[in-house]
Amino acid sequence: MAAKTLASCIFCKIIKGEIPSFKLLESETSFAFLDIGPLSKGHALIIPKYHAEKVHELPDEYLHDVLPLAKKIAFAQGVPDYNILQNNGRLAHQEVPHVHFHVIPKPDEKQGLG
Ligand code: 5GP
Ligand code: ZN
Repeated sequence: MAAKTLASCIFCKIIKGEIPSFKLLESETSFAFLDIGPLSKGHALIIPKYHAEKVHELPDEYLHDVLPLAKKIAFAQGVPDYNILQNNGRLAHQEVPHVHFHVIPKPDEKQGLG
């Protein structure tokens, strides 16, 4: 699929390198980076390299590609517990209108890993 970005979109700007980010990994279709306002250490975001607002706009092939990336990142975070979540639309708490998947480690704070 041709990489179609939206000039006004902050995540499209991150893909193009116009806004700096802490890149974690990249595939043909996705870009993964650290969240600027992490809910925990290592909070990551995975985005498609083209602009789409909500998950239903993505082709099934993309969805097939993204979960293995989320899995890889979750494993690399080195904690057994984590959330993979994804918001669609304002009422569902989506702030950035470019599809993104959160991978949020849930370290055991009793062990001082947070
Ligand atoms: P949402 O609420 O839309 O599901 O989550 C958007 C996420 O994007 C938030 O967790 C927020 O901290 C993150 N975010 C917003 N702007 C930027 C940015 O410019 N850089 C990075 N790395 N993360 C961002
Ligand atoms: Zn975008």
